[in-house]
Amino acid sequence: MSFADLGLTEPLLRKLAACQYAEPTPIQQQAIPAILQGRDVLGLAPTGSGKTAAYCLPLLQQLSALPESKVRRLQVLVLVPTRELAIQVDETLGQLSQGTRLKRVLAYGGVSINPQMMDLRGGADVVIATPGRLLDLLGQNALSLGSLSTLVLDEADRLLDMDFADELGRLLALMPTQRQNLFFSATFPAAVMALADRLLRNPVRIVL
Ligand code: AMP
Repeated sequence: MSFADLGLTEPLLRKLAACQYAEPTPIQQQAIPAILQGRDVLGLAPTGSGKTAAYCLPLLQQLSALPESKVRRLQVLVLVPTRELAIQVDETLGQLSQGTRLKRVLAYGGVSINPQMMDLRGGADVVIATPGRLLDLLGQNALSLGSLSTLVLDEADRLLDMDFADELGRLLALMPTQRQNLFFSATFPAAVMALADRLLRNPVRIVL
């Protein structure tokens, strides 16, 4: 099975070749077609499975087809539990979107908020954030979640573990209810399943 078989098109295929991703990993084989179809996904995805590219690739393809009127109006929010994961996701997105007009902004706590506010001026297509800092930025009117079309929860189990449940609830209340939801988690504890039951609509379940 090749990336082209999964529905990915040029120029993403050229990028994949440049990154030396020869063939899709099992989670990519299942997640990419489902995400391209607009389905919600609940994926059991340990680190190292290729889960980051599994959601970044189809989302980049969707973003590349956006009309001009939606460019720089936040479409995709990736929520992560830690700054380290935020940086990793940003690197993968950066590699795979090199040379495109995509604008992504990283927002995590523990560092000054001002540069992140500056980054958000003029809008962004993708924001990768930890929940607390995102709430702070929303409180400063640095961005709005009103145009969001896709929510990704990466390492959902750690997000809930780290007491982000309250913050998550407040963030969800600010998002449009019509959106695509993609949850990836290394484990499926009860708290993740409860959130998935509440938020996902007829998800494609991926358990490797
Ligand atoms: P992740 O599970 O998303 O943390 O990815 C683990 C590592 O695998 C990252 O360094 C990716 O660059 C790499 N990777 C992801 N997908 C592929 C692929 N299809 N072929 C080769 N490497 C990949």
